[in-house]
Amino acid sequence: MKKPIQIAIDGPAGAGKSSVAKKLADKLGFIYVDTGAMYRALTYKALKNGMNLSNERSLVELAKITEITFGCGKVQKVFCDGEDVTELIRSPQVSQKVSLVAAYPEVRKYMVKMQQSLGQNHNIIMDGRDIGTVVLPHAQYKFFLTASLEERAKRRKLELEKKGYRFTNDDIIEEIAERDKLDSQREVGPLKPAEDAIVIDTSNLTLNEVINKILAIILGENNDAL
Ligand code: C5P
Repeated sequence: MKKPIQIAIDGPAGAGKSSVAKKLADKLGFIYVDTGAMYRALTYKALKNGMNLSNERSLVELAKITEITFGCGKVQKVFCDGEDVTELIRSPQVSQKVSLVAAYPEVRKYMVKMQQSLGQNHNIIMDGRDIGTVVLPHAQYKFFLTASLEERAKRRKLELEKKGYRFTNDDIIEEIAERDKLDSQREVGPLKPAEDAIVIDTSNLTLNEVINKILAIILGENNDAL
């Protein structure tokens, strides 16, 4: 059997990683793993259980007894212990706390192990913050998507409005900037491009343009591999 192909997509909040990764996975017939959804699902469950988010040990214990799974389909569904949490994990409450939960080294250690086991035997696209640096350091393709803070906030606002939430631009800019700061400054698995990642600024690109850019790189090098 050929060695599975791994594609890592990292970048800050709202850079378009999930939309790009999902569509690429559909086009290439790869499995897609949204690692942010895993941290979000754990945060959702901890909040639902009224847990103290400053207790790292209890969060790790919670992670160990939590089953996070993905469905397939047009929208990738996320299940937490069998409950469909696809929408719930995108709530502002979860967004506000997820970076706190994701900063704990022991929580990350456990999550990274889970993510690596998902990536073992399949052609896979994973998106997150530390995929190219920690989770799949040997991925054949690594991309780091960025966009200006204003553009990312604009995209996130649209996304939230579709779900019925109303926020001002300033609120959203504040949330994203705060999350990026926590994600970049943590000691373990910080948000940063892998040394061998290709950085793509998506500020002035449509979703399809980003996908075509990535496909051109992958297929250009790999005509017979896919
Ligand atoms: O990708 P998304 O914005 O949904 O991720 C939510 C949060 O999960 C991030 O802000 C970050 O704190 C955490 N995360 C992480 N490592 C990953 C993916 C997400 O720390 N690989």
